[in-house]
Amino acid sequence: MFAHILEKVRTERKKRKKPKKPRLRPGMVPPQVHAPLKPPITLSPCHDQAQSPLFGKRFPAELRIAIYEAVLGDPVRLMHIVPHEDGSKRVGHRRCIELDCPYPTWQHKCFGKYEDERGMHHRRTPQTHDKLLSLLVSCRLIYSDAIGILYTANYFSLKGARGMLEMRSIVPAPQWHAIRYLHVSTLFLTPRSYWLHQDFPPENYINWADGCKALQKLQNIRSIRFEILVKAYEEREDGPASADVEALVSILEPLKDIKAPSFEVETNFVIPDSVQAILGDTNFSLKVQHRPYRKLYGRY
Ligand SMILES: [Zn+2]
Repeated sequence: MFAHILEKVRTERKKRKKPKKPRLRPGMVPPQVHAPLKPPITLSPCHDQAQSPLFGKRFPAELRIAIYEAVLGDPVRLMHIVPHEDGSKRVGHRRCIELDCPYPTWQHKCFGKYEDERGMHHRRTPQTHDKLLSLLVSCRLIYSDAIGILYTANYFSLKGARGMLEMRSIVPAPQWHAIRYLHVSTLFLTPRSYWLHQDFPPENYINWADGCKALQKLQNIRSIRFEILVKAYEEREDGPASADVEALVSILEPLKDIKAPSFEVETNFVIPDSVQAILGDTNFSLKVQHRPYRKLYGRY
């Protein structure tokens, strides 16, 4: 994501001396590397920029923040996080270009993989020319002042468990916990036993629990919205096979430990009583909605 920042990270890493690998004594558990703990660029400013009107005594800090929010954020258009399809595990970003799209969000053309009357379209790496980060990388003081706003002032849109896990793996902890608004969209096929290990689409049931776990401890989250489409593949119907309790429980159970002041789950099915009995109390509000569907690869 945010290629310019990554470019700077690489340059700074080259400058730094390679740290020695800690030796593990017998019985010690090696530290797990899930996410970077530090911001990618040092936040200590090297110059106070007092000569600049933007940082002058007569320029209100509130106005400076409003400028950052206007440049870096968007209260309407989703900020899609788009995994690269080149095996690099990198992710890119793309501001939504399909605002009125009636289809599930994961089917937006913004993600670079869709089918229309002209055939299949598949971008291996997201291409953006929005110059979103130009202001941030223009000055270290601006960077330290505004990097958090990039994460507080956007509505991030993630495509399935892969989107959740890959964004988590690349965003440093301070910025990850600055996120306020998240949207996750995905598709599950049933029966679960047959579609367990797919590479989205359809969703991978195993990775799903890990992806949801990554969202459990967001410290400043205000709103999370899930959009979960479930289809019975054999029957080619909208909504899950009614008997597939196992699938529905494994989809909905990982959501129970996610906490947010506003937490909505949109599904294309009503939760059956048998599933609700297993789940017990849930802390999200359920919205049942049937959206039209953009056929992908003629299969799903
Ligand atoms: Zn979009």
